[in-house]
Amino acid sequence: MKSKRLSMARSHEALRDNQGGAMSRRRFVEAGVASVALVGLAPLLMPWRVAGAEAAAAAGAGSYPGVSSYRNFNLALFVELSDMRRMASDPQWMAETWSLISRNMKVGKVWLETYRDTQTTAEADVRKVKDFFAGKGVKISGGIMATGPGRDGDHLAGFCYSNPDDREKFRKIVAYTAGLFDEIIFDDLFIFNCRCELCQKAKDALGLSWTDYRLKVMKEVGEDLVVKNAKSVNPNVNLIIKPPNWYEQYQFSGYNLEAQPKAFDMIYCGTETRDAENTNMHLQPYQSYNIMRFYEHIKPGKFGGGWVDPGQRQTLNRYTEQLEDTLFARPKEITLWSYGGGLETLRQADGTARVTSVLYEDAGDTFDKLDSFLGKLGQPVGVATYKPYNSSGEMYLHNYVGMIGVPMDMYPEFPEDRGTVFLTESAKFDPDLVTKILKHLNADKTVIITTGLLRALQGKGIERVVEVEDTGRKATVNIFTFRFSMDEEPANLYHADGDIEIPELAYGLVDCEEIIQGIYKENNRYSMLLQVRGFAKGRFFILTIPENFDDLYHLPPEILSQIRRDMMQDIPVYLDSPARICLFAYDNNTFIAKSYQPFPVRYNIVIKKAGARLFDLRSNRPLQGYVNGSTTQFEVRHEARTYNVYRFE
Ligand SMILES: [Zn+2]
Repeated sequence: MKSKRLSMARSHEALRDNQGGAMSRRRFVEAGVASVALVGLAPLLMPWRVAGAEAAAAAGAGSYPGVSSYRNFNLALFVELSDMRRMASDPQWMAETWSLISRNMKVGKVWLETYRDTQTTAEADVRKVKDFFAGKGVKISGGIMATGPGRDGDHLAGFCYSNPDDREKFRKIVAYTAGLFDEIIFDDLFIFNCRCELCQKAKDALGLSWTDYRLKVMKEVGEDLVVKNAKSVNPNVNLIIKPPNWYEQYQFSGYNLEAQPKAFDMIYCGTETRDAENTNMHLQPYQSYNIMRFYEHIKPGKFGGGWVDPGQRQTLNRYTEQLEDTLFARPKEITLWSYGGGLETLRQADGTARVTSVLYEDAGDTFDKLDSFLGKLGQPVGVATYKPYNSSGEMYLHNYVGMIGVPMDMYPEFPEDRGTVFLTESAKFDPDLVTKILKHLNADKTVIITTGLLRALQGKGIERVVEVEDTGRKATVNIFTFRFSMDEEPANLYHADGDIEIPELAYGLVDCEEIIQGIYKENNRYSMLLQVRGFAKGRFFILTIPENFDDLYHLPPEILSQIRRDMMQDIPVYLDSPARICLFAYDNNTFIAKSYQPFPVRYNIVIKKAGARLFDLRSNRPLQGYVNGSTTQFEVRHEARTYNVYRFE
């Protein structure tokens, strides 16, 4: 989500001089914290910077500004309305800041904003800025942030699309922008969250819920007020809708992920996960990658890329981690929001000001490093998971599962051609789900459902697959044991670092077997992963999701690895590691292991083949491994909050 509100009454200069351009009051405060934290980090970052420069030089990636570009992705910068106005009125600032930015990064495109928060960029100003960037050989596109005035204490508002006056205002903004650009991106907060009396009446007349009313209206807004309207002004205009990062919650505010991507020419998505521990958005770092895969499947070939902002990070590397995870999905393009948002102004002792940007230095270094190896990776692969359009349930659970080292590959339609399908509660929105599950199993494939989905489908057809019941009781567990398969006894006890509360299931023994058991006080045993017997073909599992998703991270590594073995049957590698070490796998025997642990961790990389060879992809250095049954295992030491890239034979 973008900073919603740029108060025009507030001095733009004052914001800029403190930190980071046009930020909301809240983000402005948090960005200030970030810049303080950076001072202490600077010495630590230095060796890393040198290594990055060497890597970039070795890869032949030039660092000179202008039209040079990255080999594996395009970089775009979003220029907010406030920056547009400043550029138009202060050509020296425009030249200086561009010089600084292009010294650090190879920018191939700029999005120039024409509208935000009731303010419009004047045509003369747009033309001045366009002319400047045209002279730099940079692609120029338009951007609209379709936010309205809001009310005191409730400023996060889109237009009221029930109101003819608001609709006309919005129509004019789109037509105006289409007259200036051949490509327009609709930034997030292209929302419909109004509950005025007009909206209440219109909704009630149709007998719809707020969600259904908003979805219906926004489908029409996308088709008519955006696409038809813009193309009538400029038939060649490429229209891109860019929803934000909160994919579980779009439909409540009118983002119609089913209809709008069909109406628009292309889609784009927000991948900013910010600070998972300390912000209010419920986002795990893994989402910066996962949402990219989801969008690729929503409009294959017409997915423009991912979009990151620098907000709400507490350390500098939390910013670059988001860039990395976005690019691990191999998009065509990445956008940084926003031009001025990445700049700072340093007051000098003599009172003059100097523009600086540690963010763009760091982003440039991150891009150079990634560009040196991204081309050697294949297409991303993961465990297929299904989240129907405009659904919700067990919100954002896919990203928690990604954080325990199970790569996710999220689809808006049931991925029937995939070997293993993982279903969370949001899949309940598909009325034919149980039939699809049975069909998948009978095709000798694997289905894993969560306890949340089991609960949702109880009495609604899951009984056609299995008689397992969520009792509604909760159990506390803190010790775990597992078996490799249904036909052996569990062995060894593994202790979690705290109590974990789970839903209690009821089922028939022998009809089902607990692959993983949770134990409390060495007595009662509860299912953590249940496998169902009796299918002539296919494998069906029920994965117990702790009441607090975070507790997945507190399961012992041995238990997590058994979850990985059962979920990742189609993926030739897994990490025998604690949680918060993510695996990004590709279809050409390459993968990335990325640690979000705050300290170094030793663990084993397991290649599911005896006699496999493993290499560090960037240095080509071989790793020493040993054969263990039908696998080859390689012990590695993984430094805190870094990633390693591998290939295996
Ligand atoms: Zn309204």
